[in-house]
Amino acid sequence: MELKEKVCKACRVGKLRRHEVVQKFEREGLEVRIEGIPAMVCEKCSQAYFPPGMGDKLSVAADHLFTLSEAKHAGEYRAVV
Ligand SMILES: [Zn+2]
Repeated sequence: MELKEKVCKACRVGKLRRHEVVQKFEREGLEVRIEGIPAMVCEKCSQAYFPPGMGDKLSVAADHLFTLSEAKHAGEYRAVV
C-alpha cells in the first residue's frame, strides 16, 4: 500500500522522500539495529513515516533479533525487503 501523504505532518513544510532508514531497539542492555527499512522521510525535520503494518513487522523482527543477540550481546542486521 502506497503512502499518499507527501507533506510532513510534524512540521507541515517538509516534503517526504522515499528513504531507507535504520531503527535501533534496546532491551535489557541489548541493542539491535535493523537497516534498510523502507520509509518516507521528511527532508526538513527527518521525521520518518513507515508504511502501514511496518511497525508491527519491525517489533516482531526485533523480538527475534533480541533472542539471537542474547548470546553475543550485540547485533546488526539488514532488512531484506
Ligand atoms: Zn517535517
